Amino acid sequence: MSTATLPSATLPSDALAQRLADSGLRSTPQREVIYDVLLKKRDHPTADEVFARVKSELPTVSLATVYNCLETLVSCQLVRAVNFERGPTRYCPNLSPHAHFHDEQSGQTHDIELPPALLKKVHAVLPRGYDATSVEIIFRGKATRSSEQRAASSQPTRS
Ligand SMILES: [Zn+2]
Repeated sequence: MSTATLPSATLPSDALAQRLADSGLRSTPQREVIYDVLLKKRDHPTADEVFARVKSELPTVSLATVYNCLETLVSCQLVRAVNFERGPTRYCPNLSPHAHFHDEQSGQTHDIELPPALLKKVHAVLPRGYDATSVEIIFRGKATRSSEQRAASSQPTRS
């Protein structure tokens, strides 16, 4: 077992080359720009949206290349692929344990932090003989307040 601890948030983009090297891959300008785009605006974009955002910096990039780079980032565990049924895959650079809240009205996806104690409880419901390597929790519904409002509000919540 490795004693290395995962960073609680995201790796700085200069760690990208190291993480890629760990997987036997080279850092390329495309991979760097695409990872940077994901870090800059964390709204769980689709591959098409990432493609549109990298166009200004990589005018000659193809959608296929964007897909390939995203796949690489996912396989290096720098980025999480998030799937909602019927929808296209979305990409999330948040490496800390979190659930997703999918706003069915706006189509937006929000990160919901998962406390380690809660995650442990979730894993504890598994009967003997089931060994989960990951768990995905997706909430669906309506976000009644914007994330800015949530951040500004310091009202304590009952738990
Ligand atoms: Zn996320």
